[in-house]
Amino acid sequence: MANVYNFSAGPAVMPREVLEQVQKELLSYKNSGMSVMEISHRSSLFADIQKDAESNLRALMNIPDEYDVLFLQGGATLQFTMAPLNLAINKRKIGFVDTGHWSQRAIEEAQLIDGISVNKIASGEDSNYTKLPKIDDSLQENVDYIHVTLNNTIEGTAFRTVPNIKGQSIVGDMSSNILGQRYNVRDFGMIYAGAQKNIGPAGLTVVIIRHDLVEKAPELPAMLSYKKLVAKHSTLNTPPVFAIYCAGLVFEWLLTQGGVDAMEKRNREKAQLLYDYLDASTLFQSPVDVESRSLTNIPFVTGNAELDNQFIELANANNLVGLKGHRLVGGMRASLYNAFPMEGVKKLITVMEKFELEHK
Ligand code: PMP
Repeated sequence: MANVYNFSAGPAVMPREVLEQVQKELLSYKNSGMSVMEISHRSSLFADIQKDAESNLRALMNIPDEYDVLFLQGGATLQFTMAPLNLAINKRKIGFVDTGHWSQRAIEEAQLIDGISVNKIASGEDSNYTKLPKIDDSLQENVDYIHVTLNNTIEGTAFRTVPNIKGQSIVGDMSSNILGQRYNVRDFGMIYAGAQKNIGPAGLTVVIIRHDLVEKAPELPAMLSYKKLVAKHSTLNTPPVFAIYCAGLVFEWLLTQGGVDAMEKRNREKAQLLYDYLDASTLFQSPVDVESRSLTNIPFVTGNAELDNQFIELANANNLVGLKGHRLVGGMRASLYNAFPMEGVKKLITVMEKFELEHK
């Protein structure tokens, strides 16, 4: 089997040790004679999987007791709707930091809800989203909360620290850097993330939400109600058992690797190597402002779409896959999530150097 390095933005590379463990216990989970895919979500086997996954996630992210952890479905996209329905209940207005595509998708979905209005409190539009906007930290907008996309998967920007917006709850979309860099959970009212980048298989969405916000939420249909989902410990209906099991194994793996701080250190080293190369290259470049750069998603271009395609072909021929940039921005993108190894970054740079020499 070829040794492929998968740079995909998501679904993305998972730790090899985790996949091997899944393979080992696929046919009979804990000597039950059944696959984890076949066990009841009401069984004690699954209850233990879920309990361990939650407590390991709490340990990894230092999630305080006053926060609930939910394992949901519907992707991060469903949270674009659930957060407004549950939390935009007094002023019925949400402040958004517009950092590009995914923040705009969140705005669009919120606007579809009757009676809810949105206010862009800052936007990176001026820089074509290659730079994070400055947020006035004394901002006292008349909103229920402020939505921030912590890591912009397509544009390759990330907030290193959580914008401090006095007196406001922050709802953070952490889909593409959860567990990849350290944030303080207490800086947020709520955090959400689709699993398929830094956690595990698609089909699972993690929500971390302060309990007082859950308590205050209005009556809603069950699958849209944080309150009802918290009351039923995320098993109001059949949860994505296999995805939660895999996520649990990834959380265990992260603990054995030294946790989030060790991951952040490694992610910084991987990203730095690639950024340093890009900044020195005469062919490739990063379009992103230095201060705004993401650790996990690194777009780069040659400035010539034809050359970009040739490079992607060469990369594929060298078993470097998933480098094609998002269709909205073109070029290339290297996604360097927790499970992506340093050797893959080094190999990418070697192939880039070769291509650069050939296209001087
Ligand atoms: N937010 C961000 C930052 C993302 O990167 C993505 C997916 N690429 C989404 C939201 C949407 O996630 P999902 O496909 O899980 O709905």
